[in-house]
Order: sequence, then structure tokens, then C-alpha cells
Amino acid sequence: MDHIKADYHVHSSISPDGNVPMDEMCKAAWEKGIKEVVFTDHYEFYLPGMKSEYFHEEYIKSYFKELEKCRHLYDGKLLLKGGMEFGQSYLERDTVKRFIKNYPFDYIIGSVHKLNNVDLEKMEYREDNIHDIADRYYEELLKLARWGEFDCMGHLDLFKRHARRHGFSDEYERHEETIREILKYIIERGKGIELNTSGIRQEAREAMPSSAILKMYGELGGEIITVGSDAHKAQDVGADFETAYEMLNQAGFNRIACYERHKVVRQ
Ligand SMILES: [Zn+2]
Ligand SMILES: [Zn+2]
Repeated sequence: MDHIKADYHVHSSISPDGNVPMDEMCKAAWEKGIKEVVFTDHYEFYLPGMKSEYFHEEYIKSYFKELEKCRHLYDGKLLLKGGMEFGQSYLERDTVKRFIKNYPFDYIIGSVHKLNNVDLEKMEYREDNIHDIADRYYEELLKLARWGEFDCMGHLDLFKRHARRHGFSDEYERHEETIREILKYIIERGKGIELNTSGIRQEAREAMPSSAILKMYGELGGEIITVGSDAHKAQDVGADFETAYEMLNQAGFNRIACYERHKVVRQ
């Protein structure tokens, strides 16, 4: 496979669920021989009426301040791109468009973490609601794909992490057609997907999305894929990338995308 080692999904202590400062994450990446990193700290969007204590414009400003600091510290050692992981971005479309226009982002991950403002992580998973949660997750993901204001869709089958954690199936077959529709929108709009390795070290026990979804994406004509660890800790930067490259090879992909100002620049 023809690529440089680039981690396109890393969180720093800017993220509310991150504890490791950006410069420490850079140090870990550099020590592991990674050449390019995108810090994709979280920015979550909500249904009207919910006011977040974290996510506001100052948050983005402090992100870029920190990023600039690290760019100086790692000048010539690491290529640092500007990015963010937008959760439920279709809920605040004007704000998202304004952020993308006004800040020098290279790469935006579009993710769904919440249903009705409640994080998938915090939901209760039971026999009697598991289908409903899966349906709602894929419905929201379809809304995001239709809207298309992102560069790559994050951890496409994230539902499986939570389902498997509670002993339930990932419901791939039940949602195969919706997933196909999601991928078609992504391809039509010239967007991509990420292969997120965090699933390998967490309850899902496999990368997100699965090999079946990667193959479907390729069959539909999808070509743009980034690889990201979704690291929140230094030891997880670049974790399981060899497994990811192998999965991509087997699914017929031989290139990994890197971005600059929302444009794919192949390595
Ligand atoms: Zn995420
Ligand atoms: Zn993430």
C-alpha cells in the first residue's frame, strides 16, 4: 500500500473527554514514526433548547491556539493539520457552515454520538429497545450523509460498540440497505469515510466500519478513506494501524487519503 503513516483522528485535552495535552500527543505520534496528525477534538451540536457549557466559538479559538503552538514545537518533525470531529452537525447547519468558512480547518469528521441529545454511551440497552436505538442511530446517520457538510464520516457503525458491550448484535443485516444509502450519498458528494481503529481495542473488537461495509463502499465506487485511531490517550496514537491497512488491502483499497483545506491530497 502506498501511503505515509497519518493518524486522522486524535483527541487532545481540548476535548471534554480528553486528558492529554496536544503536545504530549504529538510527542507520542513522533516517537511512533507517524508523519502526519489531525487533531479532531470534539464539537457537539444539539437539538434546540440545549445549551452546552463546552462548545462555543472560544473553544475553536483555543483549539487553533494550541495547534499553532504544537506546529512550532514540532516543525519539521510532524505535519499537523487542523480538524475537528463534529457530532450531529446537521442540527445546527448555519453555525457549522460559518465555522467551516471562518476557521482554517483542513479536515472535518462528521459523526453521530447522540440521539435526542443523549450520548449513545450513556443510554440503557435492553432487549426491548435495542432495535429502536439501532433504527434511530442509522436514521440520524442518514440525515448527516444527506446533508454532507463534512470530509469523512466518522466510525460509521459505532452502534455496534454499544450493542456488543451489552451483549447484543450489531444489526448489520437489518440496516444494510440504510448503510448502502448512506454510502451512496457520501460518494455522490465526493466525501469519504474513515477507518477508525478504536473499535479494535474497545468492546466492538473490530475496527469501524466493518470489512463488510468497507467492501460495500468499494463496490459502490467509494475511494476516499482515512485511517484514525480516535486516541484519547498517548499510547493509543496510531494504534492498530497495521490491522487497518491489512483490512483495507483485503477490501481492495490501496490508497489512504490525506487532506488540506478539505481537499484530498494523496500521499
Ligand atoms: Zn466519535
Ligand atoms: Zn473521536
